[in-house]
Amino acid sequence: MNERSPALSLIGVKASASRLKSHHYAQPILASKSLSLEAGISGEQKVESVLNRHAFPMNYRVLHDLTLKTSQTFQMDHIFSTLSYSLVLETKNISGKLRFQENPDQLVRIRENGQIDAFECPAAQVRRNCELLQEWYASKNIYLPVYGVVVLAYPKQIVELAPKKTKVLFPSQISSFIRKLPQKPILSEESLHQLALELRDSNEPYIPRPICLAYDIPKSDIMTGVRCSSCDFLGMEKVLRGWHCLKCEHRDRFAHIQTMMEWFLIMGDTMTNKDCREFLHVDMKTATRILQSIDLIGSGGKRNRTYQINFSKLLKDGFFIANGFNSSRTGLGAQAFQRPAALLFPLIIRPAIISTNRRMKEPALRMMS
Ligand SMILES: [Zn+2]
Repeated sequence: MNERSPALSLIGVKASASRLKSHHYAQPILASKSLSLEAGISGEQKVESVLNRHAFPMNYRVLHDLTLKTSQTFQMDHIFSTLSYSLVLETKNISGKLRFQENPDQLVRIRENGQIDAFECPAAQVRRNCELLQEWYASKNIYLPVYGVVVLAYPKQIVELAPKKTKVLFPSQISSFIRKLPQKPILSEESLHQLALELRDSNEPYIPRPICLAYDIPKSDIMTGVRCSSCDFLGMEKVLRGWHCLKCEHRDRFAHIQTMMEWFLIMGDTMTNKDCREFLHVDMKTATRILQSIDLIGSGGKRNRTYQINFSKLLKDGFFIANGFNSSRTGLGAQAFQRPAALLFPLIIRPAIISTNRRMKEPALRMMS
């Protein structure tokens, strides 16, 4: 299972955990998954902010969290492209003592208590991504050198054994590393710009499998009901033009949108009117209206009509922004997350962002805020 595109995965994991009884057997698995996703996201954000804030002394473009398809699908945390090369940065946030072992390639982590864990080797991962990016470029008749580095997001990560073929950096070393890379322009400024646009437009964000399928959890274990964005209560009541929370009296016009998204992240790929009724606690007519009001793909006749969601399209269209998902009002409820839910949604509304050197940086930065 591909574990990338962590923000949607994280929302699914947290939403499902909050809809399971606290002693449910899947809770510990979901909790540890949630921690590792959060660590990954935090590491990527750290490197992203270094790349976005720094003004490098050359013409360049930066893209984040990009998934491309060539002979296989591959995901890159960050790509830094200049007229002379592309640099792929693979970010890791795994605390403890790290050993990058070869033959076979493996990252071994030794915790303070002596516990040993093994991970896929990020050095091997970034080397493979470089080859695949070169393959993707070649298919577009672009011949640009591609370099790769592993970035350890936080200095609490101690490298006991570094990989032989791949450079490992901390964020503070990124800019000096980039300044030392050879500058022999291959692209024109215009073609670098076109390349960045093409990379962005070719991005196919990874959509996680519904949690019940991925973790083999019976759907009947999942608690239903529309979630209150203010107090996290499940089971808001449908009132005229919105939803009413029986617990905190909060009113919300759009609470169903969040809950519909949760259904697709947790329960399955295909929703029926009955699924909608049961999950949102509404009658058939309301369910029909809701199913038609959201940008879903309907198929089948009137009787057995089913609906699918196109998360990639919704992300690209800015659906989540349009529906207020970047306001503090929405999210999965602050209590379930022990931090403002608003922090979660900007992660999934973020497209692969292009930032460039200072002259052209403004619009890209504004997109992020
Ligand atoms: Zn409430």
